[in-house]
Amino acid sequence: MAGLSFQRSGQVRTDWSLEEVRALFELPFADLIFEAQQVHRREFKPNEVQVSTLLSIKTGACPEDCAYCPQSVRYDTGLEREALLDVETVLENARLARANGATRFCMGAAYRNPKRHQLAAVAEMIRGVRALGLETCATLGMLEPEQAEELKAAGLDYYNHNLDTSAGFYGKVITTRTYQDRLDTLQAVRDAGIKVCCGGILGMGETRADRAELLHTLATLPQHPDSVPINQLVQVAGTPLFGTAPLDPFDFVRTIAVARILMPRSHVRLSAGRSDMSDELQALCFLAGANSIFYGDRLLTTDNPAEDQDRRLFERLGMRPEAAPVPHIPGEAPMTANTRPESRSADSVELREQR
Ligand code: SF4
Repeated sequence: MAGLSFQRSGQVRTDWSLEEVRALFELPFADLIFEAQQVHRREFKPNEVQVSTLLSIKTGACPEDCAYCPQSVRYDTGLEREALLDVETVLENARLARANGATRFCMGAAYRNPKRHQLAAVAEMIRGVRALGLETCATLGMLEPEQAEELKAAGLDYYNHNLDTSAGFYGKVITTRTYQDRLDTLQAVRDAGIKVCCGGILGMGETRADRAELLHTLATLPQHPDSVPINQLVQVAGTPLFGTAPLDPFDFVRTIAVARILMPRSHVRLSAGRSDMSDELQALCFLAGANSIFYGDRLLTTDNPAEDQDRRLFERLGMRPEAAPVPHIPGEAPMTANTRPESRSADSVELREQR
């Protein structure tokens, strides 16, 4: 088909038609995985996986009504709310993440949109994490353009803001902010020069057509997101989506493969829901082009596979963590591998046991 031949030519396209995306979803499974694997091998080292660690820096009491989220103040999930962590606690966690082999440290706060003083506190965390030689990522809800610029000035590398699902299915999941609100935040982030991390959640009761529409929207943004997290719904008792019929795992893998083909240079992250996946299913996701994971036994407020389990999985599959790019702090001379606080080469990075 035309889309696949374009991919073979090595172009990155943002003009995919919805019909092309739907056609990819309809390919026989083996054909789809084969195409995705070829794209993956053309653009990335096939056995390397980017490793991030995610820390909840402010937990619960969120005013939004995302139907999957235990942090919404509207649902009784037994989650204990926590105030914004202090900077030193965040930096302690970042040092531990670095010691365990993470190259990116993501900070998540359950806000609708951050207030001025909250943003200032997060900016201080970003500066501190950056000084440790880690890439930084934050997810703080909706941002105004000047807020995105403030985060950029603090040295933020990535901002996560997911579209969650298709525009058509979105209203069944969230009513307190619009799809356009999300697109506006993504534009503010892009305009500020911050890399975009944006993906969705599967298994919320959406159809294959919705999954195709979500990926079509992501792949036709002015620039592809640098990171595309593909989450599987973690069902939490007390949230409206608890009890939703589970997704066929092959449909999850299909979505990863289509994302890899549509957005060939993006890191596709196998994100929430990994603790419910077998090693074999995760291996299939890597084969389909997933090349990023969250490492650490908590993902904001839900479980993630234990570090030991991930290390064993990497060993069994002959996979290794991708080396981090050397971050550049705005206004400072670019760091080199020699001046970086703990320079690492690909050979020196490994998933380490907690010490
Ligand atoms: S997903 Fe984010 S915005 Fe939605 S309720 Fe949870 S913390 Fe709030």
